[in-house]
Amino acid sequence: MTPSKDVARTAAAFEYAPAPESNSIATIRPHVGLFIDGDFRDGSGRAFKTINPATEEVLSEVSEATEVDIDRAVKAARAAQRRWARLTGAERSKFLFRLARIIQERAREIAVLESIDNGKPIKESRDVDIPTAAAHFFYYAGWADKLEYSGHGPTPRPIGVCAAVIPWNFPFLMLAWKIAPALATGNTVVLKPAETTPLTALLFAEICQQADLPPGVVNIVTGAAATGAELVSHPGIDKIAFTGSTVVGRQIAKSVAGTDKSVTLELGGKAANIVFDDAPIDQAIEGIINGIFFNQGHVCCAGSRLLVQESVFEEVIDRLKRRMAILRVGDPLDKNTDIGAINSKSQLDKITELTESGLAEGADSWSPECTLPAKGYWFAPTVFTGVSQANRIAREEIFGPVLSVLTFRTPKEAVEKANNTPYGLSAGVWTEKGSRSLWMASQLRAGVVWSNTFNRFDPASPFGGYKESGYGREGGRHGLTAYLAPTHFTTSGSR
Ligand code: NAD
Ligand code: MN
Repeated sequence: MTPSKDVARTAAAFEYAPAPESNSIATIRPHVGLFIDGDFRDGSGRAFKTINPATEEVLSEVSEATEVDIDRAVKAARAAQRRWARLTGAERSKFLFRLARIIQERAREIAVLESIDNGKPIKESRDVDIPTAAAHFFYYAGWADKLEYSGHGPTPRPIGVCAAVIPWNFPFLMLAWKIAPALATGNTVVLKPAETTPLTALLFAEICQQADLPPGVVNIVTGAAATGAELVSHPGIDKIAFTGSTVVGRQIAKSVAGTDKSVTLELGGKAANIVFDDAPIDQAIEGIINGIFFNQGHVCCAGSRLLVQESVFEEVIDRLKRRMAILRVGDPLDKNTDIGAINSKSQLDKITELTESGLAEGADSWSPECTLPAKGYWFAPTVFTGVSQANRIAREEIFGPVLSVLTFRTPKEAVEKANNTPYGLSAGVWTEKGSRSLWMASQLRAGVVWSNTFNRFDPASPFGGYKESGYGREGGRHGLTAYLAPTHFTTSGSR
């Protein structure tokens, strides 16, 4: 049987009835202001719209923060920081536990709003993004009163006022990754969400009010690149935590050179997912699917370069195509949807342009037959074979549901190909041999190496990059370092 006939048959056998999650739980306000010093107020810039990328429908009009608003937010954060840092660790921990519990209580509401504003499937926002965000607040709540045992000297001190600038692919989770450790260590924050996904950050502002968090400890300013640039260059900022593209990361690094601001950068990636011939193939197929199609492939650590050992190439590709054929693309609020909408028109254009370059450079592309909705931004899951290392689709981050497949013969060749990238955020290794997993992990230049799994996140585990994927770690005890002033240890042990 040819794969395509087989594929059509499997798809037909598993048609599901629609199972939409109700959107009535999420309040979508027609207009939302900036959250500064504990209150919502209009920004002085031009309001802009955020849309639902699955329908192109306008959701809310959001305020644009300009220089004066940023200045006000940074001053509010400065005034609050002294009081916040003077609280005992146990007091700060109480607030963090409170935020964590409210996130859990309102998880469904946050998940629905996230899926509507971002386009990601509800099963992912509901089962991954929001629970993991709550877990980060719980985890760092636990550190707030134990900082002197964290390996940062006897009296760890906060850095001060932090500017957090985050992308659109995991809006609420990225907020948690930054705000939880910042607050636990006694810093205050001015956060700017991405312009296409501001709504859950503004909902978090309401959660801060509900938790009675002192005004000014968390401030949320909305806007696009200009607002972000204004925020990070404000002289009152002591630390910048940025997640986004390598291009913008580089600009920020340049702009702070010569200042005393600390910076952490979490940037792009082009991860290798490496399948050896002794791998448990069924598990590996699920791992490949999850590695590249989770969140439409809008994942910095996506397993976007599949390296398959030559001896199992045909089997892996055949099974992969069969599995891809039963992925459901469509309504993000449908509980059975696997692949939702592409976040924006410009991201869709970027994915289209890069896949066209793949064809032009001679690679072969395959997608299952699937009907894409007429409205909104969509891209069918795609796999490229016959890819060479020099092709753009093997080198550049596509940030979409597009997988490039390369082959290798020996472990050494796998390592060489995997490391042949300017990035170094993550990697995956699929093999039955534990010794080979460990050897591969020691050879791969990537911040995270998953073995027989992919895209696993735990607040206790540090995450971050090598090379052009950035510097600094988020999560775990390591994640505290980024929010504590450098300490000078004395050998006498006196305190
Ligand atoms: P982007 O860098 O354009 O935008 C990210 C954020 O920075 C947005 O909030 C944006 O408004 C803001 N921004 C843009 N220009 C700015 C400037 N000059 N100064 C300050 N802020 C500015 O990235 P994007 O295209 O929106 O997001 C996708 C990229 O983010 C991908 O390359 C992806 O790999 C990366 N990303 C990395 C991680 C990670 O953890 N390493 C996580 C998610 C996304
Ligand atoms: Mn949106």
